[in-house]
Amino acid sequence: MTHDLAGIAGLEARLAKDLSLLEMPSKSWVPARTKDGQRVRDVIFVGAGMCGLTAAARLMLSGVDNIVLYDAAPEGFEGPWETFARMNTLRSPKTLAGPALGLPALTFRAWFEAQWGEKEFDALGKIPKGMWMDYLRWYRSALKLPVVNETRVTGVLDAGDDLIAVSLLDAEGPRTEYCRHLVLATGRSGLGGGAVPGFLEKVDRRFWAHSADEINFGSLQGKRVAVIGAGASAMDNAATALEAGAASVDMLIRRKDLPRVNKMTGISSQGVVHGMRHLPDAWKYRFNDYVNDQQVPPPHTSTLRVTKHPNARTFLGCPVEDVIEAGDHVIVKTPHADFEMDFVIAATGFRNDFTGRPEFASFSGQIKTWKDGVYEPSMGSAKPFMVDAPYLGDAYEFLEKDPGSCPMLARIHCFNDAAMLSHGKLSGDIPAISAGADRLMRGIVSEIFAADVEIHFAGLQAYDVPELQGDEWVDSTPSLMEAVK
Ligand SMILES: Cc1cc2nc3c(=O)[nH]c(=O)nc-3n(C[C@H](O)[C@H](O)[C@H](O)COP(=O)(O)OP(=O)(O)OC[C@H]3O[C@@H](n4cnc5c(N)ncnc54)[C@H](O)[C@@H]3O)c2cc1C
Repeated sequence: MTHDLAGIAGLEARLAKDLSLLEMPSKSWVPARTKDGQRVRDVIFVGAGMCGLTAAARLMLSGVDNIVLYDAAPEGFEGPWETFARMNTLRSPKTLAGPALGLPALTFRAWFEAQWGEKEFDALGKIPKGMWMDYLRWYRSALKLPVVNETRVTGVLDAGDDLIAVSLLDAEGPRTEYCRHLVLATGRSGLGGGAVPGFLEKVDRRFWAHSADEINFGSLQGKRVAVIGAGASAMDNAATALEAGAASVDMLIRRKDLPRVNKMTGISSQGVVHGMRHLPDAWKYRFNDYVNDQQVPPPHTSTLRVTKHPNARTFLGCPVEDVIEAGDHVIVKTPHADFEMDFVIAATGFRNDFTGRPEFASFSGQIKTWKDGVYEPSMGSAKPFMVDAPYLGDAYEFLEKDPGSCPMLARIHCFNDAAMLSHGKLSGDIPAISAGADRLMRGIVSEIFAADVEIHFAGLQAYDVPELQGDEWVDSTPSLMEAVK
């Protein structure tokens, strides 16, 4: 493929023109506030992955520009794509508009075609994951999004005056910044971490990893590896181990068959995107419960990437019951057999229970979740990551478990995967991320405007730039008076 860098300059000019045609970004309109001599940020984002970038862009285009995104990762390495994503390509089709916010020049396709042309786009299969990361890097730079990398949010406190104090840690040390709204764009493990089966927690870490951990696959050369799970991550980790020269990889799968149909993708529509939020809670739960029971199949190519290896085996109906250390290896116990293994990878998903998220400890206990009076057994089965999920308001804001106990929750927005049960899939995956960013923007904009209503009213009263000078007309009333005399 020929790489045309001039094409990117042209695309950026086109983007600038489109923005100007749409009068974007809107003028900056949020009144400035200070605290302890510091300018208060209108919004701080925790996380600058795809969701943080898209939501921040949406806010900036709406004139909320005193914002910042903090990300613990080094620049250009936010999110899973160049870290723990071990697939070769995205599952999503290449044509998705994703984070483009309704602007054609911001799409992946426009970015790709600007560099390699339409023919190459037609020839492209799925998007290589590194290329997707490159697109996100461009998105950030084309929109000049204010991301600060290598900075971790370590704590969050109510600072009074409707402000939130955010503790930050970077190479210079700790510091505090204040904001009016905080957006948790913290990704898949946004409110918890990897869901690790209890039987692994007692086992020495040198024998196992969660699929989202950093794993030294080189060290698995010649080793016997077990992968627990049957989702996309299970396949991608198994394939990576095989490609790194593992002696064998055994997929240990609880189900008697692999899920084959991607149910939610099958019914995707603008109805689902915009309508799910407004369904009764019981229906929201029912959709999610069904999808989780059916499960999402691993992608076709990821599955073949594993099964083409003669030293890969798939064991169905084979739940792991225990893992026991045995000197330099472990015994993985299943109802059918005990497997001797050198390493186990748990591709067992994520939790929503805030464990592993000390930065949110000051408020996590106050959040209303689905198990706090919303979930009823008639809705479906009580899956931990569903009943633990936050029960969110219309702007993705957390609600208080006990009203009045933690008012700042109304200004902390959960814009990550954990919002799925309350809002549908608008804050995690690529397809509907622009709709999610739009919903979040509308909520934050309305709240900030309402909070400053007195300032805006005073501004209305004080505004005195005349449109008419007074010399554009003559009052004929005096002549009328003359006529009736
Ligand atoms: C392996 C994998 C493959 C996927 N493939 C697809 C796909 O093909 N199609 C699709 O639609 N979706 C896919 N997804 C789902 C989704 O698109 C991605 O998870 C995407 O990265 C979500 O973006 P995000 O911004 O929510 O989270 P992330 O991209 O994970 O970004 C979160 C960011 O928050 C930062 N962060 C977290 N806590 C802190 C803190 N305390 N301080 C500072 N920074 C912090 C992290 O460093 C990280 O960069 C995939 C997900 C995974 C895990």
